[in-house]
This record gives sequence, C-alpha cells and structure tokens, in this order.
Amino acid sequence: MRIELRDELRRPVGIVDVDPTIRPSRARLNGEDREFFFNWDTALDDASCLRRCLSCGCTDLFREKAFPPFMGVLVILNYAGLLLGIFGFAENIIVQFIMIILLLTGLVVLLKSRMRLVCYHCRTAHYDLPLARYHRSWDRAIADRHPGRATPEPESVEEEETDIFEEIAPSLSHEETAV
Ligand SMILES: [Zn+2]
Repeated sequence: MRIELRDELRRPVGIVDVDPTIRPSRARLNGEDREFFFNWDTALDDASCLRRCLSCGCTDLFREKAFPPFMGVLVILNYAGLLLGIFGFAENIIVQFIMIILLLTGLVVLLKSRMRLVCYHCRTAHYDLPLARYHRSWDRAIADRHPGRATPEPESVEEEETDIFEEIAPSLSHEETAV
C-alpha cells in the first residue's frame, strides 16, 4: 500500500510505502529522514480492507480514480480535437492521426488508472489496496461534515500551527530522535 500523507490542514506531509499484511509499527517516508508511526487498531476489517484513514483515523473514506497530472491537459486537447472535427478543420491526415493518438492515449489512461481511497477529513490518499463494497465514491453530504481547515483566519494561523504540531507529533518524528 502507498499512502500520500496529509496533515489536519490537508497539507502534504510525505509518501510512505507499507505492507499491510505485516502491519509494521513505523516506516520511513520516501526520500526523507522522518518516520511515520502506524496505529493499526481497527484500521483493517475482516477482509483486510482499510476501514479508516491511517493518518488521522477518520472512518469516512471515498474511492476515486487516481488520474495522472497530465490528464486535464489530455481532456482539453481531446475536446479541442472534437471541436476541430465539428467545424470541419480536421480533414488533414496529420491532424486526424494526432486526434486518434490523443483519443487512444486518453482511453488507455482512463482504463489503466488505479483506484485510491481518500480521507474526507485530511485528504490522505491510500493506493494499491483492496476496496470494500462499502467504500463509495465522493458524496457531498459526507464531505460537508468535513469542511477542513485549509484556510485558517490570518490572525489565528500561529495558534493553528501550534495545535497541528502537537497533534501530529506522536505520529511523525525525525530519525535523529528515534536513533
Ligand atoms: Zn484522514
């Protein structure tokens, strides 16, 4: 399982790879000297499907396709090609060839994209894991219960950051302190 960790303010913390069958107590963040400490209690159900977020513990998770960053550009180019065809500017064989390549690339990316489980509360994303049937796609009613704290009031920023440090301190530590 790969986890793209985020903190309570939904800011990226790092990426960690872990084998859920081993359930290690901690793992090093990819490319960093920090470690993430896991709490596996009630994290997996009887079918070894993730039941709650491994970063914040929230039980509200939604499934979605993990599209690559260039997918948005690909969709725009496909729409542009569609408009060219509609208005009769796609008679050139080279333009048609490029449009077919773009269309096929989009289809391959769509079919090959992995599913991921995302936490409603902190937006931590979990990849390469079995998904349970009760994991549904994004739901506005559930999302409204987790408005997030991504844009704290300017005068309260210092206080918020202090709170967050205290909250994530048990989970994240520098290797120097662990050694
Ligand atoms: Zn979470």
